[in-house]
Amino acid sequence: MAYLANSHSTREILDKYGFTAQKKYGQNFLIDGNVLEKIISGAEIGKDDCVLEIGPGIGTMTQYLAETAGRVVAVEIDRHLLPVLEETLSSYDNVVIVNEDILKVDIGQIAREYHGGKPIKVVANLPYYITTPVILRLLECGAPIESITVMIQKEVASRMEAGPGSKDYGALSLAVQYYAEAKILTYVSANSFFPRPGVDSAVIKLTSHRKKPVEVPDEKFMFALIRASFNQRRKTLVNSLGNAAGLQISKEQASAALLEMGLPVTVRGEALSLSEFAGLSERLLFTKKFTKSF
Ligand code: SAM
Repeated sequence: MAYLANSHSTREILDKYGFTAQKKYGQNFLIDGNVLEKIISGAEIGKDDCVLEIGPGIGTMTQYLAETAGRVVAVEIDRHLLPVLEETLSSYDNVVIVNEDILKVDIGQIAREYHGGKPIKVVANLPYYITTPVILRLLECGAPIESITVMIQKEVASRMEAGPGSKDYGALSLAVQYYAEAKILTYVSANSFFPRPGVDSAVIKLTSHRKKPVEVPDEKFMFALIRASFNQRRKTLVNSLGNAAGLQISKEQASAALLEMGLPVTVRGEALSLSEFAGLSERLLFTKKFTKSF
């Protein structure tokens, strides 16, 4: 089977099966072999690796992965693509296609079944309509994942990589950076896909931390605090936290915690680093417990 990573072969196979790309599934197929090579080399895959591919589509990236990795498990939601994949991947015996929704599949089970529970690598040209939920699920699910190398919208990649003070910095940056080190590997033009999407893309690599960069007594509380801090970006942190219904933190408690940390009470959430949010969450959790016991 010829490589699919060009416009001619992609159109040919789509025509052969009478397949029309589905917008609802974010189907934009890669037609640029150079971009694929960059993704594969950035993901640092070898024959000892088991790769989880999300959304193989017609198998364009899967072919490259199959040649580089020991095993590829590709999860595709659209059953109409199964006969296409059967043909385009017929010469590889190390690929397993799972016809499932990646948001429902048990990723830990995939690692256990296909890699003896050892850490797997995720590589994908992600369907853009579910980029953030997919990434958060991969990070939060607790499955052994060594790295995630994915093509996503350029703007979302910038948000994931951003640090304090940048306009792109927010709850997503902090969630990603709590679990992994984020690095944009390359930018990709909309012309590298068929059909052409309305946005430009970037390839980002998230390498899981061996040890979390901060230790907090209650992760959920820290992330609730982070979300509340960025809900009203223009407000000071004290006002955002004091107005957040679910948190039950008064403005006075928020101000006192900031002062204790040597931060001005007028500071905005966008100025705080992950370790500062961790420190703040620990202080406020202590204050809440202390206040409740009276
Ligand atoms: N990997 C192919 C490529 O690079 O040409 C296709 C990438 S295309 C952007 C996204 C793929 O994800 C499509 O094949 C689509 O059907 C699939 N997909 C969409 N939603 C999905 C989901 N929830 N679970 C699994 N696959 C999904």
